[in-house]
Amino acid sequence: MGPLYSHAVNAAQHLIAAAFPCHCEQCASPLAHDEPVLCGACRELLMPLSAHQRCERCENPLPDGGECSCAKLTSFGMSRSLFTFDGPVADLVHRMK
Ligand SMILES: [Zn+2]
Ligand SMILES: [Zn+2]
Repeated sequence: MGPLYSHAVNAAQHLIAAAFPCHCEQCASPLAHDEPVLCGACRELLMPLSAHQRCERCENPLPDGGECSCAKLTSFGMSRSLFTFDGPVADLVHRMK
């Protein structure tokens, strides 16, 4: 694979680029004039994914269909003790205010 080969590859890429001035970044299918970087099919695949696979609490990307690690943190950590007092303790808190 000398320089001749890469020249050939470059030429081929230029030909393809000329034949498809706009093509999808994802699947390289030609785009309609009003379509941005991705074709409709790829946008439909990508959009819901990026919207759903983020944690609602910390906005970190989620593992495949899994639950974010922050779910465990919140149920064991913080708020637990804040929300368990009711009854007499809650009355006390209310009277102190
Ligand atoms: Zn595409
Ligand atoms: Zn999270």
